[in-house]
Amino acid sequence: MDKFIKGYKNFLDNGKTERECVNQIINQVEKAGYKNIYDVETLKAGDKVYLNKMGKSVALFCIGKEDIQKGMLILGAHIDSPRLDIKQNPIYEKQGIVYLNTHYYGGIKKYQWLAMPLALHGKVFLTNGECIDLVLGEDPEDPVFCISDILPHIADKQMKKTASEFIDGEDLDLVLGAFSQEKTGKKVILDILEKEYGIKEEDFNSAEIEVVPAGKARDSGLNRDLILAYGQDDRVCSYSSLMAMLEVENPQYTSSCILVDKEEIGSYGATGMRSHFFDNAVAEVVGRIEGSSELKVRRCLANSYMLSSDVNSAFDPLNEDLYDKQNSSPLSRGVVFNKYTGGGGKFGSSDANPEFIVKLRKSMNADKVKYQFAELAKVDIGGGGTIAHMAAIFGMQVIDCGVPVLSMHAPWELTSKEDVRQSFLAYRAFLKMEIFS
Ligand code: MN
Ligand code: MN
Repeated sequence: MDKFIKGYKNFLDNGKTERECVNQIINQVEKAGYKNIYDVETLKAGDKVYLNKMGKSVALFCIGKEDIQKGMLILGAHIDSPRLDIKQNPIYEKQGIVYLNTHYYGGIKKYQWLAMPLALHGKVFLTNGECIDLVLGEDPEDPVFCISDILPHIADKQMKKTASEFIDGEDLDLVLGAFSQEKTGKKVILDILEKEYGIKEEDFNSAEIEVVPAGKARDSGLNRDLILAYGQDDRVCSYSSLMAMLEVENPQYTSSCILVDKEEIGSYGATGMRSHFFDNAVAEVVGRIEGSSELKVRRCLANSYMLSSDVNSAFDPLNEDLYDKQNSSPLSRGVVFNKYTGGGGKFGSSDANPEFIVKLRKSMNADKVKYQFAELAKVDIGGGGTIAHMAAIFGMQVIDCGVPVLSMHAPWELTSKEDVRQSFLAYRAFLKMEIFS
């Protein structure tokens, strides 16, 4: 199991963007015998295929012995995480300091981005057809970047602001350099970008560069039972789901694992769960087993069962008034099921059926999985959503199931290794669940 945790930390270190995650996922599944579906003409029981959507989302299938119209067992998680994205015209100079302009992606409290080491990860597409892969700030020899903050001694005005207005989104800009003479710095920076990286200013127009906390996932706590790392929402469930999927050989029912993009900004876009990526992928699979039929695809989806695997806020003893303790998920007590998410009276939730939950309980108990049922927080405190309700549109049974996270949506999030292990055991148990019992 220590190998499993080591693998998880490597997955986080090598996957700080959705594109980096897809790259390493495809590398791993190809080693396990998965083929690109577009290189395969027909599919039979035991076959393994993947679909890669724009390098940002991926769907895996292992074909079962049962008729696929009777349904699949699906694991779903997201591989995007909150971060800062670089704007399309990002470089500007102000009184000798050259800045890189950003637009935040997803909900990290803005003040948490200040005065910490940041790295750049992304791709720059050049008009000559080249693509430059950029990872800058992770190697100890690399420069790192930061967003500056105000000295406390002169921050009276700032300190009176609320946390949400502490810094403007517009001012979340990285320092690229400070120069003795005004109006010369930008040229120096642009020269370095061109000479060392082959990037011209206008190339940022066709770039996707993400700003993330610099540094690796670390063991945390004196007994080293915790993990402190960036992007555990939701790469923790993505990794456990992937590992569980890779254990599947010759299943009874077709097993699937989808790892999608854009969850943190509402799942919109062609690589998000609101798109037809998944049902199109299923149509490609069904078409290769039985010949194409819209009806067969719809039956397959509607008869399926899914774990929408996403993290839950761990119970926080220092803020216990936010939680209904009996319906909360403390760290180290196992994987969490959320029957429903949503906010303001379950609004936006798909709300799982107890007929499904009882099957899950049987599967979890049979494999001795440590699990808990919880909500995000007290009823009127707040709420959130996952990809569950978009899967439910197809008519399938779906429930949220993931890992409790302390400091969730902070630049560095805290999980318990025990819960990470239990999530893997839960996903593995689910993929053996008896659909028709
Ligand atoms: Mn999430
Ligand atoms: Mn999130």
